[in-house]
Amino acid sequence: MQTSNISVVKDLLLVGGGHAHVSVLRKFGMQPVPGLRITLITRDIHTPYSGMLPGYIAGHYDYDECHIDLGPLARFARARIYHAEVEKLDLNNKQVHVSGRPPVTYDLLSINSGSRPSVVTVPGAEEYALVAKPIDVFLQRWEKLQQRVLASRGNFNIAIIGGGAGGVELALSTQLRLHTLLKNNHDDPKRLKFSLLTQGDRILSTHNNGVQKRFTRVLAERKINLLMNHSVVEITEHAVKTSNGEVIDADACIFVTNASAPSWPKQAGLDVDDEGFIQVNRSLQSTSHEDVFAVGDVASLPDPRPKSGVFAVRQGPVLTNNLQRSALGQSLKHYRAQKNFLGLISTGDQYAVASRGSLSLEGKWLWKIKDWIDREFMRKFNDLPEMDEAEAEVFATGLADETAIKELSTIAMRCGGCGAKVGSGVLSRVMQRLPKHSRDDVLIGRDSPDDSAMLAVPDGKVMVQSVDYFRAFIDDAFQFGAIAANHALGDVYAMGAEPQSVLAIATVPYGREKIVEETLYELLAGAMRILEPTGAVLVGGHSAEGAELAFGLTVNGLVDPSKVWRKEGLKEGDLLVLTKPIGTGTLFAADMRRKAKGRWVDYAIQTMLHSNQQAAHCLQKYQATSCTDVTGFGLVGHLVEMTRASNVDAEIFIQQVPMLDGARDTVAAGILSSLQPQNIRLRRAIHNIDEASKHVDYPLLFDPQTAGGLLAGLPADNAQACLNELKQLGYHHACIIGKIHAQCEQLSPIKITS
Ligand SMILES: Cc1cc2nc3c(=O)[nH]c(=O)nc-3n(C[C@H](O)[C@H](O)[C@H](O)COP(=O)(O)OP(=O)(O)OC[C@H]3O[C@@H](n4cnc5c(N)ncnc54)[C@H](O)[C@@H]3O)c2cc1C
Repeated sequence: MQTSNISVVKDLLLVGGGHAHVSVLRKFGMQPVPGLRITLITRDIHTPYSGMLPGYIAGHYDYDECHIDLGPLARFARARIYHAEVEKLDLNNKQVHVSGRPPVTYDLLSINSGSRPSVVTVPGAEEYALVAKPIDVFLQRWEKLQQRVLASRGNFNIAIIGGGAGGVELALSTQLRLHTLLKNNHDDPKRLKFSLLTQGDRILSTHNNGVQKRFTRVLAERKINLLMNHSVVEITEHAVKTSNGEVIDADACIFVTNASAPSWPKQAGLDVDDEGFIQVNRSLQSTSHEDVFAVGDVASLPDPRPKSGVFAVRQGPVLTNNLQRSALGQSLKHYRAQKNFLGLISTGDQYAVASRGSLSLEGKWLWKIKDWIDREFMRKFNDLPEMDEAEAEVFATGLADETAIKELSTIAMRCGGCGAKVGSGVLSRVMQRLPKHSRDDVLIGRDSPDDSAMLAVPDGKVMVQSVDYFRAFIDDAFQFGAIAANHALGDVYAMGAEPQSVLAIATVPYGREKIVEETLYELLAGAMRILEPTGAVLVGGHSAEGAELAFGLTVNGLVDPSKVWRKEGLKEGDLLVLTKPIGTGTLFAADMRRKAKGRWVDYAIQTMLHSNQQAAHCLQKYQATSCTDVTGFGLVGHLVEMTRASNVDAEIFIQQVPMLDGARDTVAAGILSSLQPQNIRLRRAIHNIDEASKHVDYPLLFDPQTAGGLLAGLPADNAQACLNELKQLGYHHACIIGKIHAQCEQLSPIKITS
């Protein structure tokens, strides 16, 4: 979370977590530019490092060793991270469109989104082939291919299409891995038949003769059938067809052909080359739009270079410098692409061939060097330096022109510290942009000029009210708004009520007027996304600028008083159902310290974005006796409230309590939420504390939740049917986690069993 009295003056938007942007993030983490806010939009939270991928396929590395975790890296850079795929650019309005959220605005845009093999022209490729990129999709299909191979009988033909370094490396590494799999399964590896098809008359055409010969020999030694001048025109379920009419048996096909460009840069009107790659000048700046930069595979340089991660890596420092200079209004530096570079191409079996200019060499020692270089590269991103704010400021002065930084800082400080209301112009524009809803029982809402909202309570209903307000634990205002809304609504659902109306209170970080407007809009749009399906109407609120993003909602709900759930309703024999997994407290505490994996945090966010609405309806249908939402007091804290009010005891089946991925790891690392010590005081409520506290999941029973699930008591006869329906509704982690007993231990009503 950004906590700062410095205003946001400029927005730098990074699209794609490619090889250059990771170094931009690292550098900005060490050398922040005051007033420059960074946002990363990335399709993958864990971005693959291309140099190690063949080693991963061959089984030499695990997933985390060859992927850069953009979660902690973005946090290090104080950058907002949006897990989304860019689909469209609007260069006139300086906006980037992604699905499922409002367009993202920028002052400066940098694109490092890579390329993928040109599949569109080959019918059947998307359907039947394992296309090398996107890598995450490739890896999923690769897992399936391994299962298929294991389950197969007799010959199994695999065709690799593409004779570049990627194709050759993948042919050798997939073969090695599949051979090992079969051998370990006491099966015959010889039944695997590999072919490598290339449309040219040689492999590795961007490398020298020596490298080509060495790999031709290695392929022959490994009995990989090399088919040159074979241009693939169609892929079917069990074959590939070539332009000369040949049909080659292929039970699986791996596609690693020339890089192709995404369509959106050209559609947006950016200058692109003949193949659609973004045309940039020597400063890596778009030749048509000076506020847009592009690097890596997606860019087309004045002196074209092969599409290779090596170049993207080298562009990183120049790009960082130019983004800083551009933000500060300074002249840009040139990137000079090296003519010759050292390529280390592996043969799959911890052996490599070196290629530089006209030189070639091979040996095990070259693999060792490659392995060392690759691990060193990864270490820079996965082992980030610890830096405090003061240190970062000192670095900041060394980065570019000190005067220019001071100038930007001065603008940044100018409107900071006022803590004032958000300007009326900003507010009314935001209100105009938000969808408008009305309902009969909202007599005066936010579209009227009155000082308060006026609400009616329909006959036969009573109103329940609840308020929540908290500091942002993620920098994404849209998602934070949605999570805060879910969190606030949880209290109303836990009473068996339906939300009618809400009042919102927001604090947005200091910034330029346009930036404050966008942040406030994103926050409220996120909340509206959750509110809309519930039928609740936003009737008013208050907003201010402050050092950090914070948001809260007062929710008014309506309920038939005879159907209201109270905490006192639990009955002996009830089974306890929990609808969502727990662990958000420890995970976000770890995230703040950059100790949580990006995928854990990403998944936790997805669960927090999941509304409790349908779960509440389902629990009503199956006649829940009592309900609560699990939030700040943790599972035990909220259950104790219920047992005390209901005069019953409860048993928690600790093994059944669903946990978020990573929560056990962060607890094991000793990372707990700052609320945990208060929650854990309730351990006296646990009857068998000595035994229970030995369980590995014990601390998580006290973990405070944000937008947590519903915990309800259900008549034993209804519990399983209710659980089945909850799962069908998408509450995949829902579980029966305990049972209600007659009261014997008033002071220690909870017993924990396995
Ligand atoms: C099997 C194989 C092996 C290879 N081995 C090597 C090697 O050893 N050395 C080497 O130098 N090169 C190698 N390459 C080539 C290398 O992978 C690419 O040249 C390199 O990855 C390009 O880097 P990049 O930074 O441009 O983009 P990428 O590394 O592809 O990164 C792009 C990033 O952008 C994200 N992204 C993509 N589209 C969007 C979108 N629309 N919105 C938001 N985010 C998006 C992705 O999630 C990803 O994080 C290999 C390629 C293959 C297929």
